[in-house]
Amino acid sequence: MHAQLLSGFGISSSGSHVVRSPIDGAEVGRVSFDDKATIAAKIEAGVEAFHIWRDVPAPKRGELVRLLGEELRANKEMLGRLVTVENGKILQEGLGEVQEMIDICDFAVGLSRQLYGLTIASERPGHRMMETWHPAGPVAVISAFNFPVAVWAWNAALAFVCGDPVIWKPSAKTPLAAMATQALFARAAKKFGGAPAALSQLALCTREAGELLTKDPRIPVVSATGSTAMGKIIGPAVAARFGRSILELGGNNAMIVCPSAKLDLAERAILFAAVGTAGQRCTSLRRLIVHESIYDRLIERLKALYAKLVVGDPLAKGTLVGPLIDRAAFEAMEHALAAARAEGGKIAGGGRILEADYPGAYYVRPAIAEMPAQSGIVCRETFAPILYVMRYSGFDEALALHNEVPQGLSSCIFTRDMQEAERFLAASGSDCGIANVNIGPSGAEIGGAFGGEKETGGGRESGSDSWKAYMRRQTATINYSDALPLAQGIEFGGR
Ligand code: NAD
Repeated sequence: MHAQLLSGFGISSSGSHVVRSPIDGAEVGRVSFDDKATIAAKIEAGVEAFHIWRDVPAPKRGELVRLLGEELRANKEMLGRLVTVENGKILQEGLGEVQEMIDICDFAVGLSRQLYGLTIASERPGHRMMETWHPAGPVAVISAFNFPVAVWAWNAALAFVCGDPVIWKPSAKTPLAAMATQALFARAAKKFGGAPAALSQLALCTREAGELLTKDPRIPVVSATGSTAMGKIIGPAVAARFGRSILELGGNNAMIVCPSAKLDLAERAILFAAVGTAGQRCTSLRRLIVHESIYDRLIERLKALYAKLVVGDPLAKGTLVGPLIDRAAFEAMEHALAAARAEGGKIAGGGRILEADYPGAYYVRPAIAEMPAQSGIVCRETFAPILYVMRYSGFDEALALHNEVPQGLSSCIFTRDMQEAERFLAASGSDCGIANVNIGPSGAEIGGAFGGEKETGGGRESGSDSWKAYMRRQTATINYSDALPLAQGIEFGGR
């Protein structure tokens, strides 16, 4: 079945790097990695592509993205399935990921006619000031395993309409979905005709070779999605050469559940956000801060729901939780649960299951960890389905707990009290890049800017005005008078 999937995209499986499916640990395909010289050549080709693409009118560039969206629509089922096979998320979420790619293509097509600058009032007579947005240059996109294709699309669809070529380094855990995406792009480019050959390039490589992309001054923008540890290396490397980085790093997302919350809605939101994608979303719900008056009732109901969760083959209908990506992810979960216990936590769930059926894969029971305090382990992101639960008595206390972690990606509150909702969204409320009311922290729409603060890196991708990060701003002043007045009224040379 896997071979059929790959051949559907025209991918030939060869090379020394073995790609295994987290579903059963079986080999899905093989790829070969680029060495440093090849990466350097790709950067050079990206620069050449830039010199052509930047002069193509933006609405025409949008036409290529429209065609890419069409390819994605036509191949949604197949690409979504490949995402599931290679990453382990359930098929519904694999399809959802491709839909996100389609959505951002639609958004970018519209944007291609809206890369607006400003006209600014000049203080000098007979002068006009304006702001123009120009293409920036080749953009490096470094992506994580957990959204193996959507993150590329968030960046690439915008970069292409903004006039920038893209060099994409996907996670070594999910190179096949990246190759399939690149194949769909090639089909779109063929239909478009005349796009530079190196407009979209794939750099399958080790981290070490990938570092070249972060250090090369010919790459003005590096968009990197992954762990905070990765961002701590890439951010300074890009800054050292005055490049621009868009960092989308780890999260430690919370929900505050207030006494007036509609509990049935909150429970559904908690379930999707805490166990969906097996807890392997940057926006997964990791901390639940519950008012003491409803704590016992909510936790009891959650435990009952957790006990009924269907964990297993992500391609099978009815499954809600697929496998973890690999053994290291399972060990990290075990380690975190042991730490939670040592810090006074009471754990329900957790542990490996289905080992006899899938000896080469890591399926786990999602865990609920009732914590006496927001201790050390709660403040760290463990990329697994562990939900730390804490109780609060006063709203100030809940907000303080909420903001007292190093990460600042997504957040939410369940309440029907308008004052609590507004306080959560106010300047002194949630300190995250995303703040929701009566919606869980995950599953963002592409229309908004996506990203977070503090150790999440500060980057913004996708909707709103995120496109500005892929362009350079130019301020131009035009003198259409016969005089040469200086700004600030400076007299120079007496004329
Ligand atoms: P990771 O940090 O291990 O790897 C991410 C990518 O960075 C991979 O392609 C990896 O090869 C590359 N990389 C790592 N070090 C590098 C270096 N020095 N130079 C160049 N490339 C380097 O992350 P992961 O395990 O694949 O993904 C999980 C993490 O990603 C979680 O922390 C999650 O929260 C985060 N994430 C964040 C967002 C977001 O938008 N904020 C989205 C998805 C995932």
